[in-house]
Amino acid sequence: MTALRRLAILGATGSIGTSTLEVVEAHPDKLAVVALAGGRNRDLLRDQCERFRPTCVSVAQAEDAAWLTSHLSYHPEIHHGAEGLLACALHPDADTVVAAVVGAAGLASTEAALRAGRRVCVANKESLVVGGPLMLKALREGGGELLPIDSEHAALHQLLAGRVPTSIREVRITASGGPFREWSRARIQAATVAEALNHPTWKMGPKITIDSATLMNKGLEVIEAALLFDLSAEQIQVTIHPQSQVHAMAGFTDGTYQLQVCANDMKLPIQYALLWPERLNGPVPPYDWDLARTWTFDAPDLDRFPCLALAYAALRTGGTAPAILNAANETAVAAFLEDRIPFGAIAACNADALAAHPAPPVENLEQVLDLDRQTRVWADAWLVARG
Ligand code: NAD
Ligand code: MG
Repeated sequence: MTALRRLAILGATGSIGTSTLEVVEAHPDKLAVVALAGGRNRDLLRDQCERFRPTCVSVAQAEDAAWLTSHLSYHPEIHHGAEGLLACALHPDADTVVAAVVGAAGLASTEAALRAGRRVCVANKESLVVGGPLMLKALREGGGELLPIDSEHAALHQLLAGRVPTSIREVRITASGGPFREWSRARIQAATVAEALNHPTWKMGPKITIDSATLMNKGLEVIEAALLFDLSAEQIQVTIHPQSQVHAMAGFTDGTYQLQVCANDMKLPIQYALLWPERLNGPVPPYDWDLARTWTFDAPDLDRFPCLALAYAALRTGGTAPAILNAANETAVAAFLEDRIPFGAIAACNADALAAHPAPPVENLEQVLDLDRQTRVWADAWLVARG
């Protein structure tokens, strides 16, 4: 029996954050909330504070911190900005940090939580992609735990635990294929924001939903898997599985495969990461094998979805290449969501960003944050000129 886990949830108002709070509500004897950090959605954060009564709260902007101070019925510590995220991540009463901010904005807080020896349940894949070696170093030196929330990686965690590394030939992570799975290349290039946001199987925040339409999300996940499970690019494959019921497969040296199956509900991997190694009643009914259903599996098409190939290229190059790819992609996705560039420009910008920048080894947080900033400036200029 694990003791009560005390959580700091970074990105509390997002898709993963709100699902995490639902898991907390289902297991009040196992999970409690100490700190909540959100971005700009202050109304929702206020409601969450009234319900869960965290002692530490943070928002992105100073004006929202002031607003919260006068709109809460009690008096928690209220912080803002990057320092506020760190205050929540490092709160002395929290033993478990849920890293669910979107994008490289979560980098420093994920690293700090690992360095402080917390259990860090990471949904924020960009922080692992951008600062991979720094995260592993912080984990090693902090002596805490890193548990993936991303469904494919939570599946791999279940499949690979206790395996002899030499017995693993490859792993496969599945992709739904997104809304454009059957579209022609030309039609994909001209897709609208509404079409790209219409994900067939998962309901998620806007950035990851666009990444799912380009397959960049799966590319980021390939890099994430390499880091988390110490695998080479050749050992990680992607399989298109539109039903999103098999989340990952482990392929062993003898040609045998094991698959992880569960409903496509993020509360499952969230609960797994929070409570591991304990398993309690889940947020959805157990899998119903008597229901007639068909599963299909297919290879991804790198010609129609070039972002996946770019992620493999960045992984093979190593060093800061994944950070460059991520910064370009975040910039391009934001521009696409604001309707400033066509869908096809996301992949084109990402490809040129990788080609235009050298990729020295990752050394420290300042270097990576600096490179992230510079690449965003570069990508913004590229998008204005070419997007
Ligand atoms: P979202 O957009 O719904 O939520 C993002 C959260 O981060 C919000 O609370 C927002 O207010 C906060 N935030 C954004 N910028 C911030 C900043 N500068 N400072 C403080 N807070 C900030 O996104 P999401 O879908 O919940 O995704 C979060 C992360 O989890 C992403 O990295 C995503 O790739 C990953 N992930 C999400 C899912 C999913 O099902 N949604 C699945 C797997 C992985
Ligand atoms: Mg995933």
